[in-house]
Amino acid sequence: MSRSTNGTFFLNPPVTVKEFQKKFEKIAPPAIAWKGDNVGLQIGRESDIITNILVALDMTMDIAVEAKKKKANLIIVHHPLLFHPLKNITPGSRVGEIVLYLTEQRINLYAAHTNLDSVKWGVNFVLAKMLTVKNLSVLSPLKESLTKVVVFVPLQHVERVAESMHDAGAGTFSKYDTCSFRTEGTGTFRGMRDAQPFLGEVGKLERAQEIRLEMLCETWKINAVLSAMMKAHPYEEVAYDIYPLSNKNTEYGLGAIGDLERPLTEKQFLAMAKKRLGVPAFRFSKGPKTIQRVAVCGGSGSELINDAVNRGADAMITADIKYHTFQEFEGRILLIDAGHYETEHHVLPAVKDSIKKITEKKKSSAKIFMTEHSTNPIHYFL
Ligand SMILES: [Zn+2]
Repeated sequence: MSRSTNGTFFLNPPVTVKEFQKKFEKIAPPAIAWKGDNVGLQIGRESDIITNILVALDMTMDIAVEAKKKKANLIIVHHPLLFHPLKNITPGSRVGEIVLYLTEQRINLYAAHTNLDSVKWGVNFVLAKMLTVKNLSVLSPLKESLTKVVVFVPLQHVERVAESMHDAGAGTFSKYDTCSFRTEGTGTFRGMRDAQPFLGEVGKLERAQEIRLEMLCETWKINAVLSAMMKAHPYEEVAYDIYPLSNKNTEYGLGAIGDLERPLTEKQFLAMAKKRLGVPAFRFSKGPKTIQRVAVCGGSGSELINDAVNRGADAMITADIKYHTFQEFEGRILLIDAGHYETEHHVLPAVKDSIKKITEKKKSSAKIFMTEHSTNPIHYFL
């Protein structure tokens, strides 16, 4: 047993915030977050050893105090506390008071926002499953996130290079890994002065039997893949190409869409959604009489309503819908505003489970808590 930086005890082996972050970001990559988002470690030190972890949707003073009580020096939230630039950090503002408390208590704060919205284990798929929606796919797949890597490798070295690239994450897509395409051909080169060619002699035109090895790679893995490729490749100068692809990445993206097992009437669907989401009421505008294809987007998903209509959804559940948006889509889709918190907080058990898997794998004794507080600022007066 050892003492951590904030005075609490932890059992070995210790896991640092940085180690945790590295593992967590494999399942919720920050690179898939919306470009204007602010995700990752917001307050704290990567070198701190984790005592316990508290999971919540929002960062409030109640959550900060709960973390201290539970001896948790890492809080994972969905909504970033630090989003807009701060002019000062004083107890006079909500954010300032929380920042001061966390730094004084040496509690780290980490935000997984639109990256948690965009993974298949995250906010939207959890919400859709709660509503018994099956055959799920991403409603708005991620764009500009796929790359093709092509490298020319001498015949005998192709397996080694391919294996290294696969280990770094290339050639994995959906339910398949170690995917590649190989074509054989002849490479030519002539080493000039000071060259140290792997094959042949300086100043002499050489021909080598090579494989054109190509793999799909998610853009955020490209540096790791290139460095693994270079390390495994025998040539002094490696010939390779990187092509950005226009293909959509259907593994990640916002919203989810799928089908109910059997069609429901509007009234049956509304009753089922109300019960399953545990909400006292919600706002909606009318759509088709029969509901089978359903789209969801936890939180503010108005921008995805067109995608839902284009993909044939009879109903969509999201939040923060404006009056004129209801008006625009009236009659085309059953549009339900079930509340921001109400459509997002269901993801917390999934976050807790994913973190637990990470700490258990690291044999850490850190406990993972889900907050006991509702951080919903909105109440209903019925
Ligand atoms: Zn949200």
